[in-house]
Amino acid sequence: MDIKFTCPRCLQNISIDEKGAGATVECPSCKSQISVPVEPSAKPPLSYRAVTPASISEALSEPVIERRSGWSWFLKLVGVICLVGGMFWFFAAVYEERSDSARNAFIYIGIGIGGAIQSFFFAFLIDVFTDIRWFLKKLVDTRNS
Ligand SMILES: [Zn+2]
Repeated sequence: MDIKFTCPRCLQNISIDEKGAGATVECPSCKSQISVPVEPSAKPPLSYRAVTPASISEALSEPVIERRSGWSWFLKLVGVICLVGGMFWFFAAVYEERSDSARNAFIYIGIGIGGAIQSFFFAFLIDVFTDIRWFLKKLVDTRNS
């Protein structure tokens, strides 16, 4: 059975015997060196293929920043705003000359810190799940390629 593929450079349709799978050949049209793809049907099913150390290290070498979801950054921003806002209202209440200003100050700083902790906690959860999902997807991509 022949392998049919397209030259990535000149888009010439090429047909080669399946024994040539994975080999490097010269394109008959543009003379560039191209590698013959391995037929997808020739690969074993995904679940039977081993996860190799190479595929894992390749997956981990991707920069972390590209994995992060927008919601994670948004929640971290909300966390910082809670913290800054809480501190602002804390000091505002402290310097206020009212009998209940001390109690209000602690309520404000409590809300600020509490909000920040919640936001960062959910951002952390999103990061972990994003990383796991991204990592699994990356492994599947690596094994399919
Ligand atoms: Zn070509």
